[in-house]
Amino acid sequence: MGITRKRHDGGAFHPHVKKGDEVVILAGRSNGEQGRIVSVDPQRERAVVEGANLITKHEKGRGSGRNPMAAAQQQGGRIQKPAPIHISNLMVVCPSCGKATRVAHGEVGGGRVRLCKKCGQALDRTE
Ligand SMILES: [Zn+2]
Repeated sequence: MGITRKRHDGGAFHPHVKKGDEVVILAGRSNGEQGRIVSVDPQRERAVVEGANLITKHEKGRGSGRNPMAAAQQQGGRIQKPAPIHISNLMVVCPSCGKATRVAHGEVGGGRVRLCKKCGQALDRTE
């Protein structure tokens, strides 16, 4: 007997990208750049891409007390770190055909898999 389950509850959000994906950025200052996703925030629908969309942060010294010398000793006043990018601005690069592609969804053995729309290969490594 087959069990039919409703898959679109309207509540759960499944990002089409996930950690470790190679993606192309489609907007913003890193438009056209490619990088690897280091983290995804499904709640905010944002992802951080390694080396992309860098912002410069001015770190304040976190020395205990108010000793200005201690603050000055903190390494480097500025650090560059990638800012999160809205995932709608990201396109997955297919590991099989190497092209940026939209993601098709398929099901294998009841599990969701992401498929490349260009070549039809799974974007996720199957175990
Ligand atoms: Zn492909």
